[in-house]
Amino acid sequence: MPVSPFQIYTLLPKTNCKKCGYICMGFAAALASMEARPEDCPELLKPEFAENLKKIKELLPTGEKAETGLIITEERCIGCGVCVVVCEENRASEEIAAGKGPRFDAAVVLRVEDGVIKLVSPEKCKRTFKTPVFCRACVEHCPTGAIELVG
Ligand code: SF4
Ligand code: SF4
Ligand code: SF4
Repeated sequence: MPVSPFQIYTLLPKTNCKKCGYICMGFAAALASMEARPEDCPELLKPEFAENLKKIKELLPTGEKAETGLIITEERCIGCGVCVVVCEENRASEEIAAGKGPRFDAAVVLRVEDGVIKLVSPEKCKRTFKTPVFCRACVEHCPTGAIELVG
């Protein structure tokens, strides 16, 4: 079950100082959809919020979902390949750059296999980088909502 931004909000400092780039409620929504990390709020790193920080981390997704935050619903995928070509990491592939689609190149994040999208190398998605880039290009361009972000 996705975490509710309001549940996260109740644990935030609620000063609306915008040091994270949002007001607190916006930051809560960004955390829920993995657009931000708890550490992006400097207030939360203060000792008096240590317990709240721990609780927030417990609420956020872990494991496979935490890698990218992307959820694929294969039943909705029509295999159009739009996500494959809008992904900047995928476009580093020579095959994709040549307009051939990633038929053989293993070094891609997303690939259509048997008419359905597969997240073949989640570790190559920008969202999993050591300093994550909160990219959502594939989500925004998918015409059927087959790729979503947690939250
Ligand atoms: S930095 Fe923290 S306290 Fe300030 S607005 Fe963002 S979430 Fe709220
Ligand atoms: S989130 Fe960005 S980098 Fe990751 S698969 Fe989607 S388009 Fe590619
Ligand atoms: S996930 Fe969406 S954009 Fe990607 S191939 Fe499937 S329908 Fe097309």
